[in-house]
Amino acid sequence: MEQRHFDLIAIGGGSGGLSVTERAARYGARCAVIESRRLGGTCVNVGCVPKKIMWYGASLAHALEDARGYGFTVGETGFDWAALKAKRDAYISGINGWYHTYLADSDVTLIQGEARLIDARTVEVDGVRYTADHIVLATGGEPIVPKIPGAEYSITSDGFFELEHLPEQVAVIGSGYIAVELAGLLNALGSEVSLYLRGEHLLRRFDGLLREQLTEGMLDAGISIFPRTRLQAVRRAADGSLDLICEGGRETHGFDTVLWAIGRRPAVDALGLAGIGVIQDDSGHVVTDAYQNTNLSGIYAIGDITGRAELTPVAIAAGRRLADRLFGGQAERRLDYENIPTVVFTHPPIGTVGLTEDEARELHGSSVKIYQTTFTSMYYAMTDHPVKTAMKLITVGAQEKVVGCHIIGPGADEMLQGFAVAIRMGATKHDLDDTVAIHPTSAEELVTLR
Ligand code: FAD
Ligand code: NDP
Repeated sequence: MEQRHFDLIAIGGGSGGLSVTERAARYGARCAVIESRRLGGTCVNVGCVPKKIMWYGASLAHALEDARGYGFTVGETGFDWAALKAKRDAYISGINGWYHTYLADSDVTLIQGEARLIDARTVEVDGVRYTADHIVLATGGEPIVPKIPGAEYSITSDGFFELEHLPEQVAVIGSGYIAVELAGLLNALGSEVSLYLRGEHLLRRFDGLLREQLTEGMLDAGISIFPRTRLQAVRRAADGSLDLICEGGRETHGFDTVLWAIGRRPAVDALGLAGIGVIQDDSGHVVTDAYQNTNLSGIYAIGDITGRAELTPVAIAAGRRLADRLFGGQAERRLDYENIPTVVFTHPPIGTVGLTEDEARELHGSSVKIYQTTFTSMYYAMTDHPVKTAMKLITVGAQEKVVGCHIIGPGADEMLQGFAVAIRMGATKHDLDDTVAIHPTSAEELVTLR
């Protein structure tokens, strides 16, 4: 007979839901994951994974440009978007399949369908009720599309991954991670890209050095950036192209793709949270304490649905720690949301961890000391399109404890993880300086800053 009661049910088979059940099952808990779509969630299907493949493709486009500088004869090159998409889709289908095996091997039951909460112990899927001692909400989020006339002619990051052809003229609206990543890779692959920000800056919450360098780099690469521009409508012209109508009446014509990247909202509509009294904040995110507990005993939330650091490794870490706490005898186990490293896959990439300079000065005043550098790495000594690298270390107090590390430049994505470990362990500037440099690299600058 089909099992209907579990120790733990996770709603959502993405980064968080898969991690909490796999870890709980390892402790011997009987677990189920409920997933309405494809296993792997946003990251695998419409997020990190297909995005990173496109980023690698875009990086190769830059490398092809640079190759001549190293003596290569590069003939006429072409780029087949459809072929790359087909291969990318096949790769992701493989991961979806792998997750089915992974769940089976982990002794986690997969329930396919959309879940709705009946009470704090009961979930309904397609008319069938399942009960559990612990229910974990891990339904993630979905892209926001504004309610303006003509919004239906535009796409979001989800639609980006469905594109069958390289768009020629693209308007990207937004200023966060997705806007800068997709604008950067479309530009490298050959689209003409215009980026519309409602405010003054890209990546407003990031350190100023990163913002400035990124903006300069994007402009150099040929991306048009329009700050302080709010859209009022999208209109389809007689020839099928799209026009943007901005506040103040200014119009821009001739786009084939308009892409919104203005943040994500939690995927909570189907869950029936209000019906059972789970508290949400103004934007709909589920409110949790430091241990991922919601206000209802036995109901927890992890990952993007909580609106805190919407990153895959954060959802995974929160899920695993929750399982450790509930089934692993580790009563105080929880995720520390401080010093979470993050990479923005722009061209060049950004790696950042800890406080920005503004945050550090606000918290620590005059005890903040900044070390920074801007340079062009040796790689570009041979090429026609030099790209700058910029690095900043933020230290506090007489010991010069490092509280922030910000890097933009080739290799920043792979450079950051080790420095994040050091900062988490409380490294001081002296500790970095006392580490023998690796030469010749860009990373060595971080242990030789004056
Ligand atoms: P999700 O992975 O979104 O999983 C939620 C799952 O719940 C989904 O599969 C959904 O179908 C399912 N679901 C929803 N409602 C129900 C329901 N009622 N019943 C059953 N199932 C339901 N993060 C990084 O760390 N690095 C990156 O490079 C990166 N790139 C990104 C690029 C893009 C374009 C996007 C959009 C996101 C990116 N992210 C990245 C963020 C990352 O994808 C998310 O932080 C992560 O997927 C969140 O995991 P989650 O488990 O909270 O939710
Ligand atoms: P972000 O939160 O990163 O950025 C969205 C930005 O869009 C806001 O900060 C805001 O900037 C601007 N914005 C909001 N509303 C409007 C509007 N109506 N019109 C114009 N601009 C608006 O969201 P994303 O959608 O880019 O990404 C969602 C999350 O997914 C990210 O926060 C990140 O956690 C995760 N992600 C992670 C990646 C990675 O790890 N590399 C890659 C992609 C996504 P302002 O207020 O300055 O105008």
